[in-house]
Amino acid sequence: MRKKRKRNNRIQHLLKIICLELVVIVLLLLCFVYILPRNPVSEIILDFIEEKPLVVLDAGHGGYDVGSEFNGVYEKNITLEITKKVGEELERRDIPVTYTRDSDHVDWPSDELQDLEERVHISNTSGASLFISIHTNATETKDGQGFEIWAKTSDEQTEKLAENIEQEVVTLPYITDRGIKDEQTSPLHVLHYNELPAVLIEAGFLESKEDCEYLLVEEKQTEFAKEIADGIENTLKDMGVLQDDVK
Ligand SMILES: [Zn+2]
Repeated sequence: MRKKRKRNNRIQHLLKIICLELVVIVLLLLCFVYILPRNPVSEIILDFIEEKPLVVLDAGHGGYDVGSEFNGVYEKNITLEITKKVGEELERRDIPVTYTRDSDHVDWPSDELQDLEERVHISNTSGASLFISIHTNATETKDGQGFEIWAKTSDEQTEKLAENIEQEVVTLPYITDRGIKDEQTSPLHVLHYNELPAVLIEAGFLESKEDCEYLLVEEKQTEFAKEIADGIENTLKDMGVLQDDVK
């Protein structure tokens, strides 16, 4: 009996020491991460502790659906190129992204409604902070020019996202700003059923010589993507989900 109590005491003593050591380790870790100047190891630990805001990027159309087409140029190819460049730019700034598609392959059947529903489903189940869809525009009269941004403007955060992107893209020398369009005047599935602040950017018109020439050049696509990424980054900061010191 006494032997058993002695052993219990020893186990209790051992547990106390382990707990104390754990507390010391946690305190040292916190001190290392938060009090000492930032260093590569503390950055890695901070990255692990701090959850980064995720952004859903949606390249319009894809696979069976080419989108609009003009002089042999397919919308789906331009939207994919720009969307991937936005993603690369955000990742370079340490902002993680997820794509509804990152190649010409789509994971859903060749059905337009199901296609849109899948994109919304990816967004609504992603746990992300923002959704950005990228398209190019077309008119029946073939005389359109410039970019426009569609958004549910009744939602304050969504409107701010649209404004932040517009403010950056408009600084590009080539492009006409057609403004922010209220999604409610012409409901768009990927915005209408989206639970995140969501915008759809019509990057330009394939039928416009100026727009099309611009949108087909890789270096211009990168320029365009950087401005979109700036607008996204500023919105994440406005929302308070991204620290101001993120590169
Ligand atoms: Zn489109």
